Amino acid sequence: MAKQSSKEEQNINVFVRIRPNNPVENEAKSLEVLSKKEILSRTTYNQKRYVFDRVFDCHSSQQEIYNAVVSPLIPEVISGYNCTVFAYGQTGTGKTYTMEGFHDQDNQISSGIIPRALAQIFKVLTNMNTESSVKVSYLELYNEELFDLLSQCSTPKAIRIFEDKAQKGSVILQGLEELSVTELCQVYKILEQGSERRRIASTLMNSSSSRSHAVFTIVVHTREITVDGEELVKTGKLNLVDLAGSENISKSGAIDKRAREAGNINQSLLTLGRVIKALTEKNTHVPYRESKLTRILQDSLGGRTKTSLIATISSANVHMEETLNTLEYAMRAR
Ligand code: ADP
Ligand code: MG
Repeated sequence: MAKQSSKEEQNINVFVRIRPNNPVENEAKSLEVLSKKEILSRTTYNQKRYVFDRVFDCHSSQQEIYNAVVSPLIPEVISGYNCTVFAYGQTGTGKTYTMEGFHDQDNQISSGIIPRALAQIFKVLTNMNTESSVKVSYLELYNEELFDLLSQCSTPKAIRIFEDKAQKGSVILQGLEELSVTELCQVYKILEQGSERRRIASTLMNSSSSRSHAVFTIVVHTREITVDGEELVKTGKLNLVDLAGSENISKSGAIDKRAREAGNINQSLLTLGRVIKALTEKNTHVPYRESKLTRILQDSLGGRTKTSLIATISSANVHMEETLNTLEYAMRAR
């Protein structure tokens, strides 16, 4: 599915990734699996030909996804612009696999977007030969509350949001740990610590991590002295967001009745859909302030920034209803 040339300058790109069957599914001989074409033909948008920028089937590697979705954003970030990549989909379809992958430094084939992005940033900065620094932070958003996944405190520390008076549309996250990183082995440690803390936090709060969002942010500073002797400082951000499971919101973007009854309203997931829709429709009002997630990402969504959404789905027919919900949500971004 190639992109229409008129859409080339689009600042929001939407991708689909189909995860392979797991061993249990492969064992089940009765499992009905649909092809990429069959899945897409069932969407209500099937008349439009250029709905997604690209659809990756179950044979696509982590490297292929990275090269197509994230690699083009790195020069933007290093030039001082903000970019965001979201993984959106039903629980169990590969959001965390896509974002983090396995934390195995010796076997990097299954490394996800986060370590690959940092590896590319380190490489580009080394070749540029300018003064630079790279910092990362990792937070979790659960029930509209923010927790620092890199904090050394034994209990998850809540973080508060303040408006940044100096920079309109930006917020300051008070108390959020920012770690300087210079090499990849540190990144694997940070990811490991982050997922461990995500697990502990969900046990403590008796919550399910499928209802929390994880936001990994990479901040790149560069400082150059121009030929005229002027100081040129640039700051760019890359936000890599592993969203909560999409199963709680329905096709129309409304809250699923069962979810509402269970009190599982995911304000951030709903608002994100509305913000993306408002941005693609170029509405004057974008409801950033209606959720924590869109508030903290406000300076990285819209305007000169670039945003990519990876919708993760399963090809099993039993998951078809959720798969279609995921694709409808993703299509609203186009
Ligand atoms: P989610 O974060 O969406 O709930 P996970 O990333 O945890 O889903 O994926 C569920 C399981 O499927 C994990 O065991 C993961 O390793 C595996 N998985 C997901 N996508 C892939 C893929 N493309 N290739 C191989 N294994 C995958
Ligand atoms: Mg996950």
